[in-house]
Amino acid sequence: MKLESFWQATAPVFTGAAGKELPKTADVVVIGGGFTGISAALNLARSGLNVVVLEAAGVMSQASARNGGHCNTGVSQNFASLVASLGEEQANRYYRAFASAVDYVQSVVADEQIDCDFLRCGKLKLASKPSHFAGLKATYDALRRTVDRDVELIGADEIRREINSDVFHGGLIQQRGGQMHMGKFGIGLAEAAARSGAEIYEHTPVTSLTRVKDYQHRVGTEKGEILAEKVLMATGCSNIGPFEWFQRRIIPVGSFIVVTEPLPQQQLRELLPENRTCVTSMNIGNYFRTTADNRLVFGGRARFAISSPTSDARSGKVLQAAMHKIFPTLKETRIDYCWGGLVDMTADRLPHAGEHEGVFYSLGYSGHGTQMSVWMGRVMADLIAEKRVENPWQRESWPAVPGYFGKPWFLPVAGLYYKTLDRIS
Ligand SMILES: Cc1cc2nc3c(=O)[nH]c(=O)nc-3n(C[C@H](O)[C@H](O)[C@H](O)COP(=O)(O)OP(=O)(O)OC[C@H]3O[C@@H](n4cnc5c(N)ncnc54)[C@H](O)[C@@H]3O)c2cc1C
Repeated sequence: MKLESFWQATAPVFTGAAGKELPKTADVVVIGGGFTGISAALNLARSGLNVVVLEAAGVMSQASARNGGHCNTGVSQNFASLVASLGEEQANRYYRAFASAVDYVQSVVADEQIDCDFLRCGKLKLASKPSHFAGLKATYDALRRTVDRDVELIGADEIRREINSDVFHGGLIQQRGGQMHMGKFGIGLAEAAARSGAEIYEHTPVTSLTRVKDYQHRVGTEKGEILAEKVLMATGCSNIGPFEWFQRRIIPVGSFIVVTEPLPQQQLRELLPENRTCVTSMNIGNYFRTTADNRLVFGGRARFAISSPTSDARSGKVLQAAMHKIFPTLKETRIDYCWGGLVDMTADRLPHAGEHEGVFYSLGYSGHGTQMSVWMGRVMADLIAEKRVENPWQRESWPAVPGYFGKPWFLPVAGLYYKTLDRIS
């Protein structure tokens, strides 16, 4: 078993990195070379701006190539609860933003001719307990009534047409959900940005950021400084660099994934006939999908732990047990890949994007970012280029998480709380 991301291990090598010498000036410096930063860089370069991306490690080395591979419509929270907390209009606006984001990813794949196995087979949310079906029904009713007439609810008696497993009690299908090979997409996007003129510097962590004038920043790295007219923070849940204001608002939460050996196509089709991206209804639940080479990608929170090789391997065992429970026929199946990553969670589990003290940012996709980060890269590029564009995640304020200064000491307590909720629900 390889303790590395399947998406990274099977993606092409990035060939578009810039030379060693950093430029002295730039119209825009983008900090971070994941989906947000690279999508922004592509669009900024297309607008004729001189854009430099500074990436601490390699492009697509963090969440963007360490995720579950789902590219779904719909908000990360239960839609019915979102309606209850924010009202129908706002909840609909957020839902539409996610749907547009998937459309945008699809258009980028087509325009840039990125070979990344992009499919729109839909998303299936599975009721893990009989009592959870009522929650799916409430979401179904709210979606049908307002923003998604294609949504479909299936009861326990029909669920086997979607998944060959005994453990589920119905499901909710959102037809427009997508999936892709995240590594191939990310590298394709980065090559497109480099071709369009964005200068991408890998292994260049930003270590200081000072405001020189109202809209001018000195961006410091070990390789030198750049004077930039504008800066975009696209750093995910990073704790690298002096970005305490952002770090106090984003909680890094570990999530883990295993990938099986390639299976006979027939066996995989019997397990998941419609080939959708699947997610279970537990708070500490699982997500899974297949790959173009017939593997099963199976993820989940597994443990409330940070990712490291030992931690990932232990989480892999927990995930294997969960996978066997859902699909007992996979008991003898070999696991080829196992890895973990950090999800950039916010207190309201929704993204935040805007400007803080002259620095643009788009962060905190809360486990639902493979589509939104790509779309928000585009939105932030337009805002920076002073084009008219709607930013769905502009909010009046973004308070820090109380008592949190960069070390999520409360995660084990939160884990216990959610485990208890799952037990009694
Ligand atoms: C295990 C896991 C599973 C997930 N599954 C899904 C899923 O199935 N579907 C979904 O929609 N979303 C999922 N997500 C979330 C999704 O992957 C992210 O929301 C999205 O990739 C965020 O992209 P990003 O560019 O903002 O951040 P990242 O991809 O994390 O990129 C940020 C980059 O900034 C760089 N950086 C940080 N600090 C500095 C600095 N000081 N200087 C320079 N560079 C810096 C980092 O090295 C990194 O490359 C998952 C996330 C994880 C971790």
